[in-house]
Amino acid sequence: MKFAVMGGDMRQVKLAELLTLDGHEVFAFALDKAALSEDIKAAEISKKELEKAECVILPLPAVVNGDYINAPLSVSEYKLEDVLACVDSSSLICAGMVSERLRQRAAEKRLEIRDYFAREEFAVLNAVSTVEGAMEIIIKEMPINLCSSNCLVLGFGRIGKIISHRLKGCGANVTVSARKCSDFAWIEAYGYKWVHTGNIASVISDYDVIINTIPAKVLKTAQLSRIKRGSLCLDLASKPGGIDFDAASHLGVKAIWALGLPGKVSPVSAGAVIKNTIYNILVEQERFEDG
Ligand code: NAP
Repeated sequence: MKFAVMGGDMRQVKLAELLTLDGHEVFAFALDKAALSEDIKAAEISKKELEKAECVILPLPAVVNGDYINAPLSVSEYKLEDVLACVDSSSLICAGMVSERLRQRAAEKRLEIRDYFAREEFAVLNAVSTVEGAMEIIIKEMPINLCSSNCLVLGFGRIGKIISHRLKGCGANVTVSARKCSDFAWIEAYGYKWVHTGNIASVISDYDVIINTIPAKVLKTAQLSRIKRGSLCLDLASKPGGIDFDAASHLGVKAIWALGLPGKVSPVSAGAVIKNTIYNILVEQERFEDG
């Protein structure tokens, strides 16, 4: 197939390389600051170039500042409107975190768009990279061994499940916060302790590291003021995050907000996850043969 890989960070660069290794023809757009392998054809964003692509891959997130393609590895800025005007109506656009505006603009131009970020297989495997990045930060920032330390994981979704498993594997004492009875049962079944997310404040003083995965402000002054001196608070939740960082700084709590970890710690694996998710979409669309 002919793919256009546009914008994004090192994940998109690695994705472009992986697609060429699978034998596809790959055109790279808005990646002019990256060192691309010679099999990838760097191209200018124009109708002539973009309409060749059967699948246009936009980055994660696809759009920044409302109207611009997310292109940190390009010296130029690209308006969403101008890019969509160059895409052929037979092409499929695959993008990460599709905003309402992008969805609307694509619909107006009768362009088909799919969000790979919204797919479960992407979210689960992306969580693996996120957790490896988080473990690196925890080990680097903690003055004590993870083994025998007391770890509190807030949230038992994809990242919460995987990080609890990894921490336990390192010999840590793991407690997980959740709010559903079914989650409490699973947490117990895995051999961790549980606490209701609404009751974090009453137990938080016991922990050496607190890892938040809940995309809501769960660590405010009431909770942060009880954290013991020297403990680490790591927020993995996307904006607006789960920690009141102003309160943490005022209280002298060591708090780190670590975003975009997959692209930073494992761009090849993160690129492979995007590639495999896009292949799944293409197979479902019958644009691509399975296997
Ligand atoms: P997830 O599977 O949806 O899990 C979210 C967890 O938070 C669930 O346990 C959920 O509980 C709980 N939760 C949500 N809203 C809550 C609220 N208002 N009060 C209490 N609990 C609440 O999400 P995920 O895939 O693990 O991702 C977690 C966060 O990390 C997201 O913000 C995601 O965008 C972000 N993320 C960060 C990185 C990074 O590099 N840092 C990478 C990927 C994703 P229920 O099941 O009861 O709703």
